[in-house]
Amino acid sequence: MEKTIYLTFDDGPIPEVTEFVLAELEKYQAKATFFCVGENLQRNPDIAKKVAQGGHTLGNHTHKHVQAFKTPFAHYLQEVEQCQKTLQQVVPHVTTKLFRPPHGQLTYSLLTQLREKYQVVMWSHLTYDFDQSLSPEVCWLKLKGLLTPGSIVVLHDSLKAERNLRYVLPRLLEHYTASGFTFKAL
Ligand SMILES: [Zn+2]
Repeated sequence: MEKTIYLTFDDGPIPEVTEFVLAELEKYQAKATFFCVGENLQRNPDIAKKVAQGGHTLGNHTHKHVQAFKTPFAHYLQEVEQCQKTLQQVVPHVTTKLFRPPHGQLTYSLLTQLREKYQVVMWSHLTYDFDQSLSPEVCWLKLKGLLTPGSIVVLHDSLKAERNLRYVLPRLLEHYTASGFTFKAL
């Protein structure tokens, strides 16, 4: 099996963190997938364009980062549609239909409905980089040596995750590149 790791970055794009992520990925010619929040796309269209120009994939993460278990069915679908519309406005040449539900929450009826139009992407490894009570070192140990070909890793280009991400991402790229892995977008 090809030694590929799929890094995914949720909740951006934001200037403080996404630009750092892009610069780190560039050092290793690594490609990744960014599940964007519609509101952040509207606030930061230029960063979204940079993500696309870097050869990375952009995906849908709802307009306002809503939770499926707390949001009425029709409203949730609107949230997804609104984010997709914003994605198409900001990066018109991007035609991906990837969707990741915030907090990994999805009801069976939403999943069934969304699958008609979107590819719903979950993950194999969650780092909890957003948990500020977790030290960067521990966060890194949750990934070091544990990823295998085909792993899908969730990281966050968010302010909450920034401290852990700035520690983990350079180490992750270096460690797994040295072990013969390449990083691809979904
Ligand atoms: Zn999220």
